Amino acid sequence: MGRSRNETCYEQALEVLAGGVDSPVRAFHAVGEMPVFAEHAKGAYVYDEDGKAYMDFIGSWGPMILGHASDVQLDGIEEVLKKGTSFGLPSKLETMTARAVEEAFPSIEKIRFVNSGTEAVMSAIRLARGATGRDKIIKFAGGYHGHADALLVDAGSGSLTYGTPSSAGVTKGAAKDTLTARYNDLNSVRALFQAYPDQVAAVIVEPVAGNMGVIAPEDGFLEGLRELTRNEGALLIFDEVITGFRTAFGGMQEVTGIQPDLTTLGKIIGGGMPVGAFGGREEVMSLLAPQGPVYQAGTLSGNPVAMKMGLNLIGYLKEHQEIYPKLERLGERIKQGIEEKGKDNGIPVSVSHQNGMLTIFFRSEVPKNLEEVQQSDTRRYALFHQKMRKRGYLLAPSQFEGMFLSDAHTDEMISLFLLDAGEVFEELS
Ligand SMILES: *Cc1c(COP(=O)(O)O)cnc(C)c1O
Repeated sequence: MGRSRNETCYEQALEVLAGGVDSPVRAFHAVGEMPVFAEHAKGAYVYDEDGKAYMDFIGSWGPMILGHASDVQLDGIEEVLKKGTSFGLPSKLETMTARAVEEAFPSIEKIRFVNSGTEAVMSAIRLARGATGRDKIIKFAGGYHGHADALLVDAGSGSLTYGTPSSAGVTKGAAKDTLTARYNDLNSVRALFQAYPDQVAAVIVEPVAGNMGVIAPEDGFLEGLRELTRNEGALLIFDEVITGFRTAFGGMQEVTGIQPDLTTLGKIIGGGMPVGAFGGREEVMSLLAPQGPVYQAGTLSGNPVAMKMGLNLIGYLKEHQEIYPKLERLGERIKQGIEEKGKDNGIPVSVSHQNGMLTIFFRSEVPKNLEEVQQSDTRRYALFHQKMRKRGYLLAPSQFEGMFLSDAHTDEMISLFLLDAGEVFEELS
């Protein structure tokens, strides 16, 4: 049999791109496959270079909450492009998008746009250190906050799959001020505050963990972090790069009513264009240059095309918040359907679901922290992934990543998905 175009694409990519991909998870190593080379995508479907259609549950890792290439995203983009794609000067679209984000997130009094989630987090951490005059930060094992040095300690996402909890090339110096606590375990955070009194600048948390598989916060966990940080004079940073505009229009802070000091955003706010942002209390944000002493900058930050695409998406979501209960309902259907089919076939499986973000764990109970996540059967996940891919479903190519639903997914699609998943379970049992 001749090579598929998809295989040829990968071979050619390997000749010129490091590892053939621009982000490790795309290599599909964790599930023992070759990458899917996207040729185009529309709605809930991605089409590879061989023209094979996949019902997509990756959704570009979150941004495609309306499905791919929606008219909403593209509205007015050509006009913006023609007016110039970057100026190195401020433009009105930045103000408009900032206003739209701040309306959705009352805790964000002032914002700054950057080009990725990594940049947003890196900048927020620097700002927190500048604001408190303290060096240390607390993160959670399995929490992923982009690939900046200080955050690549016990990190999730690709670095979990690849078994390098701290990447090579991260200096001891960069890692030494990063303390790691256990997700959903307030005592582990308390212990760190006790061990390092008056030294912690900030606690950074994914309010729903999305990069060790989806892990929901237990009742009281986020509230406890709010209280602890306030008492200890540290800032609370919600990394809502995934959850912002996804778990609700106002992210997890809307769901929980908790106001962090700083918030980082990405993914959805660019509608698929490279955008990140960080924002929070005025008094903290005013420490940024040019007003204050904390330096942060970006040549392409606030790029007009990216701002317009984000604005389109945010504007639409604001007027169509019925999307959120829909995603929640579809996610619950997947959870119930998969867990039932697991039981029918004697396969230990549990589905962790929060507001349309989910992970199918091959483990009998939904995990609540990294240690429990790591007890999942990754070999079985890989087999499940391979068989579902053959049937035309694109699932997260690692046990340790989330699945994302979009408004383009329908009840009929979920029924089809569950039917095929059930048949695959029979094959696996
Ligand atoms: C994806 C992600 C990041 C990093 O964003 P990039 O745009 O990939 O740099 C940071 N934090 C969380 C929670 C993420 O999911």
